[in-house]
This record gives sequence, C-alpha cells and structure tokens, in this order.
Amino acid sequence: MRKLTLGFLSTPWWVLPILTVAALARDGAPSTGCKDCAAWNASQAPFRIYGNSYYVGVHGLSSILITSDRGHILIDGALPQSAPKIAASIRALGFRVEDVKLILNSHIHFDHAGGIAELQRLSGAEVAASASSVEALRSGHSGPDDPQFGHLPAFPQVNRVHVFQDHEVLHVGPLQVTAHLTPGHTAGGTSWSWRSCERARCLDIAYVDSLTAVSGDTFFFTRNATYPNVLEDFAHSLAVVSALPCDILLTPHPEASDLWNKLARRDAGDADALVDTAACRHLADAARKRLEERIAEESRRGSAAKRS
Ligand SMILES: [Zn+2]
Repeated sequence: MRKLTLGFLSTPWWVLPILTVAALARDGAPSTGCKDCAAWNASQAPFRIYGNSYYVGVHGLSSILITSDRGHILIDGALPQSAPKIAASIRALGFRVEDVKLILNSHIHFDHAGGIAELQRLSGAEVAASASSVEALRSGHSGPDDPQFGHLPAFPQVNRVHVFQDHEVLHVGPLQVTAHLTPGHTAGGTSWSWRSCERARCLDIAYVDSLTAVSGDTFFFTRNATYPNVLEDFAHSLAVVSALPCDILLTPHPEASDLWNKLARRDAGDADALVDTAACRHLADAARKRLEERIAEESRRGSAAKRS
C-alpha cells in the first residue's frame, strides 16, 4: 500500500480526510473507498453569504451559488453523492436548479468536481474549466501531473466543458466572475472572484482554491518530471491570492477559511463577521509557510538518502 507523504507537521486538519482517502489506494490504482466522505457529506442548511451569493454545499465541502434573475453560476460540486443535496439546497433557497447556467470548479479532485456531472445533468448548465483541468473533468480522473495522481477516487465524467483563460471574466446575464489560475495543489487549480451587493454596499468575494502541497510518496515538489514547474506555480499562486480583491474569503474546504466559526459569530449578532479584508493575505502566508516546511522536509529526506 502506498502511503501519502505529508512532509509538514502542521498539516491543517481539513487535509487529513483527503490523506486517509488517498491511503486507501494501492499501487497507483484509483481508490474507490472514502472513509471520511460521509462526514464531509453531512447535510448543511443553505444560507446567504452576502447579497446574491449563497452557500449551497454540504457541511464539509463548499458549493457556492451566485444568483441573478437571468440565470445563476454554481462553483464546485463536492462529492458525487453531494449533488442531490446541493440541488435540494438551491431549491430550498427558492431558486430553480434549471436556472444554473454555468458550473465552475476549483480543482479536479473527486471532492470538488465529483458532483459536477450530475449537477450539469439536472440543470443543463455549461461547465467551464482551465486548459489544464479539461482532460481530467472529461475523463473523471487526474493525470500524472497531479501530485496526488493515483491516490484519489475517480469521479463521474463531465461533458460539454468549455475552456477559459487566466483572468477571463465569465458572464451569466448580469453576473461577472473572474478566473484566477492558482496552480500548485493541481496544475489547473483556479480561484474565483466577484462582487456581491446589498443595497449600495458591494463587497469583493474570493473563492480561493486549495493551496496545500499534498502528494503521493513518489512525488517530490522539489524534483519531479511530471509537474516540473510546480514550485514556480505555487509561488505565482501565493502572490495572486495575496493580491486578490478580498472582503469575504471562501474556500473549497470551508474550515480553511474558518467559515463555521465566522458564521456562528454572525448568527450571534456580529453582522460583518464574514468580512475580513486581510483573509486572503493570511491564507497565502500560512500556505507559504507550510510549503517552505515541505521543501525543507524534502531536502532533509534527500540528504538522508545520500548518507545511507
Ligand atoms: Zn484536492
């Protein structure tokens, strides 16, 4: 059995379920089990984040709905088994799933892209992906450039995928969402930004993709042939995330942006508890520190191998 190489002791706990899933894979074959998926897929009542932006995901995995009277945009589909719950949450908010016109993705792992095929079937929406993500969405599994290649379950294949470019603004009716390529965790990872307004007050919302350097035990971020520019990509992504317009930070794993604690504070009366203009910068700083720890750990492993 292959094991995953963590490489940093301060692994955020929300990464651990991914690692547990990955540890189930044998010899690079896609794993089909997912010990923590039931917990991830726990039901979550949908709620308004701000203005026309809503959380419609399950408790452990985000899915974000941006609404307009001329169609909606949905970001991320969580697990395959999350799709009916996401659809039910959209309906519970009073919207029609059939009005979702565009589905976007943070990255092509089963826990964020798994529900997209079914949500596309239910809605008839277009799906858009970065050039590096298209093949994985169409085939239902990532390729050898994925640091976790062979360690994660496959997911339902997605049809009708349109490719967007970095900085492209995607439109549905009056909605405008900007793509920011933030590769590293995967080669095609993408963060998204848009504005939502309540009366005259408009806030910048950033949905920032995972920035964790997690891999199988044969993948070294400091030296590998399948994704040779991964460290340059991470450096680029951390700079991009630091500079994003960011009044409200959202992340594919909601704990990564402390969403539930912020929401509890808002429910207790702090109306702006979700607003933190430093949140993107702090997220990037923490990710940079963890990446540096991983790089140091790989170099220690390299020196130990030379000595033995
Ligand atoms: Zn991932």
